[in-house]
Amino acid sequence: MKQERESLDFDIILIGAGPANLTLALHLQRLIDNHNEKEKTPLQPDIAILEKGRYGGAHLLSGAILDPAPFETFMPDFRERGCPVEAVIEKESVWFLSPRKKFRLPYLPEPFRNHGNLLISISRFGQWLRNEAEAAGVTILDTTAATEPVIENGRLTAVITDDKGISRLGEAKPGFEPGMRLNARAFAVGEGARGSLFRALDRSFGLQPAETLQTYETGVKEVWRIPAGRIEKGTVHHTFGYPLPPSVYGGGWLYALSETEISLGCVTSAGPENPNVDPHFNLQRFKDHPFVSALLEGGTLLEYGAKAITSGGYSAMPELSGPGFLLTGETAGMLNMQRLKGIHLAMESGIMAAETLFAGLINDDFSDNALSGYRERFERSSARQELFLARNYRSAFDRGLYSGLISAGVQLKIPGLKLAAGAAAQENHLVPGSREYTTFLADKAAFKPDNVITYSKSSDLFHSGTIHEEDQPCHLIIPKESIEDICNKRCKEEFGNPCQHFCPAEVYEIDPQSTPILKLNPSNCLHCKTCDIADPYAIITWTPPEGGGGPAYSRS
Ligand code: SF4
Repeated sequence: MKQERESLDFDIILIGAGPANLTLALHLQRLIDNHNEKEKTPLQPDIAILEKGRYGGAHLLSGAILDPAPFETFMPDFRERGCPVEAVIEKESVWFLSPRKKFRLPYLPEPFRNHGNLLISISRFGQWLRNEAEAAGVTILDTTAATEPVIENGRLTAVITDDKGISRLGEAKPGFEPGMRLNARAFAVGEGARGSLFRALDRSFGLQPAETLQTYETGVKEVWRIPAGRIEKGTVHHTFGYPLPPSVYGGGWLYALSETEISLGCVTSAGPENPNVDPHFNLQRFKDHPFVSALLEGGTLLEYGAKAITSGGYSAMPELSGPGFLLTGETAGMLNMQRLKGIHLAMESGIMAAETLFAGLINDDFSDNALSGYRERFERSSARQELFLARNYRSAFDRGLYSGLISAGVQLKIPGLKLAAGAAAQENHLVPGSREYTTFLADKAAFKPDNVITYSKSSDLFHSGTIHEEDQPCHLIIPKESIEDICNKRCKEEFGNPCQHFCPAEVYEIDPQSTPILKLNPSNCLHCKTCDIADPYAIITWTPPEGGGGPAYSRS
């Protein structure tokens, strides 16, 4: 549907209100305020943040442990300003889990040392940062998704925002509001992992080097209220082993936010090379382990959610800037999988992006050359140093858990060392006909949620707050001919239609008896992007639905 669109002009637009762009906005505003106090010619740029969630933090999900180092640069008084810190980490351990037993690692590997770091709820943290940015004078447009880039003369000059009020058949409904064209001199794209605008920019500008494709995991999380007296506030446990087979990278976490509230979750690798994984199922089995269920008994599930995690690290980072834009946070690959942390790196990227954009305002120059100052700042930064030392950590596990543990252990002594390929890369075991796949299906068929400790996807989904306008075009784009040729035939035979497993929200239902065999429930979507990543034929494209739809996290 061709639209007449209202057009608005800004100096700088930030896409996504996560820790990277909120830190960017706050730091930039502070640099501008300091400048204006001293100089006769004040800067008065129009800056806006676009956020597709219905409120600040609604789409933010993480464990989450925060290394507070970036606050020293940009807000040393963060505690006095009311930053929501749940606990300071005081006890920590790493465990190997067998199906019924646990074995504690006798020493704590350096990347797992978190003493003094902070336990936070990232959705609360994001809400607080958002309020700080708004109080500092930044315009924040909630419920507004950037749906497509406008590229003119080889440069990003504007974004189109979501239309509101189009029916699933593509017709305007009463009250229809077309999206706007928002122009800016520079953009910062910080949409988290596998953002749709980043994907569009990547297609136009080749941001992701072909030889270093990005890799991802899917994190699935629950927050529980538990009886007091079982775990001390500030305790952190990380696990590996059960419930994942050695061929699948991932692990679990348990964080005591207080004596009566815990965050727990499971990370499962997500990729087209091994799509038959079920991150939600892995989390349920993790909870069923005696180590975890003993904590949860008599407790109450408070919140559920999922998100993709950018895991390729330094070696898989895309270009950090392009004509008219910068990439920030996880969109720029700023996550250290070895430390299981990225919030501090996202914030650091926001600080560096703010300094680059401030220089652009001062010099009235947002040329490619001026924006490349962001990369130069990164090259001199502690973020680069940290990511570089961990650059081969994740890829060490491509050959399976045990080979990966040896290699990761050696890397702790010699950071960045990449051991020569001694064993073949893991093959895809979870395909129809394989023993692992048969076991996977049998385990899933035998799993019966007890609705006390374990839950079905649909019950868990109820605790995510996810809602969407039902009568809107499906935001999961699968060409009709692909459904006929691939879903109904090739994928069914070659992979067993893994979308029914990897989606943590039951968006994809497969009924082999019907034609087509695929039924979609897009209004369940948690915006985790796993389908866009793990689909082995790359026929699923995740696009933003109407702004305001999606999860409503408040504890995640
Ligand atoms: Fe995640 Fe939504 Fe895709 Fe399901 S449909 S995998 S919830 S992004």
